[in-house]
Amino acid sequence: MPDDILDALIVGSGFCGLAIAVAAARRGLRVRCVGDGQAGASLANFGQLHSGAVYAPVLPSLSEACWRERSRWYDLTRPVRIGAATGLALFHSADAVDRYLKAWNRIGITASEAAPVASGSLPPPAAAFRIPDYSVNLPALHTSLVTLAHTAGVPPVLRREVTLRRDPASSLVSLAQNAPRAAPRARMLVLAAGAGTPRLLARAGIRNTLRTRRIAWGRQAGTRVRSLTYWLDGDLLALSPDLGGTRVGLPAVNGRYATAEEEHARLQTALDLRGVQRPDRDLSLLWGTVCEPASPEADPSSLVVDLRKPPIGWTSAANLLVALPGKWTTAWHCADQVVDALV
Ligand SMILES: Cc1cc2nc3c(=O)[nH]c(=O)nc-3n(C[C@H](O)[C@H](O)[C@H](O)COP(=O)(O)OP(=O)(O)OC[C@H]3O[C@@H](n4cnc5c(N)ncnc54)[C@H](O)[C@@H]3O)c2cc1C
Repeated sequence: MPDDILDALIVGSGFCGLAIAVAAARRGLRVRCVGDGQAGASLANFGQLHSGAVYAPVLPSLSEACWRERSRWYDLTRPVRIGAATGLALFHSADAVDRYLKAWNRIGITASEAAPVASGSLPPPAAAFRIPDYSVNLPALHTSLVTLAHTAGVPPVLRREVTLRRDPASSLVSLAQNAPRAAPRARMLVLAAGAGTPRLLARAGIRNTLRTRRIAWGRQAGTRVRSLTYWLDGDLLALSPDLGGTRVGLPAVNGRYATAEEEHARLQTALDLRGVQRPDRDLSLLWGTVCEPASPEADPSSLVVDLRKPPIGWTSAANLLVALPGKWTTAWHCADQVVDALV
């Protein structure tokens, strides 16, 4: 292959695009990322390094992937950790404790019992466990990953929002007219564009079975919990320590989030119940978007679609892979699958 042709050009420089670049370079492939410089989900999420503990009884495959991949983040996350090195899982019912303990034991997740402490007007939890989850400073982690990519020999990210086009005769996909002038030619394109993926595919006329979903969450300035804390059998409130505040998350109701006003009120009620909300502190509501496979059977920890052998519902393409980690904590897992497809 001529020297100026890359093995892969990766569209997106969030945690997934960068993890793919590092994993590919370590396997001897020549790769480069092109990114639009926007903060995708990797820079605006709850910042939770999941051990898998919270998903163990409900999404076991996601939990297993988080547990397996967790050690691969150690070196990068240790200096950028926020708050305590272990999280807290709180329970109100003995049944739930039993269900979680069984699932943790089955996967091998280590959890140790802690003293339950009452908070706000809620009765004290029946049980509390220290779990190996913690919060991280996402921009600092992103910077570490950029440095790691540089060290692995990946050239700097090319800054440009790109669009794709697919040639119907050859089924080859290329960057459309707004490609960076310096964009190198590549044998394969890898789409690691997060929530931007469906739009890029649609503009190139590539059918797919992805969907996007908006998630409401909150950030409270001024108050900071010590540990990443989950109420696992109540309203499922999650509190993540953040620089100068706390990130606050609640799951959707019947699969959907309501209006900004309603979601703000729901978060505020959950905080008030626990005495976390103080009248003089601001709770701001934010929205994030996840892109995921529409099928409930798909692996929630990572989706890698090789369009050279398209699954049902996808258009074929001679040189395109699509990569979506279910969580940032499973980005290395996703990267391995991409690199296996590239070599
Ligand atoms: C609210 C919320 C909370 C979450 N909390 C957690 C959590 O606590 N722990 C966890 O593990 N996971 C969490 N996740 C999931 C996690 O954030 C994502 O799975 C992960 O960050 C996705 O990484 P990515 O690199 O695929 O996408 P992104 O980080 O979104 O990166 C994609 C990049 O591609 C760029 N891009 C898009 N289109 C183009 C284009 N046309 N040209 C060039 N560049 C383009 C985007 O701007 C972006 O920079 C959360 C997600 C959300 C939405």
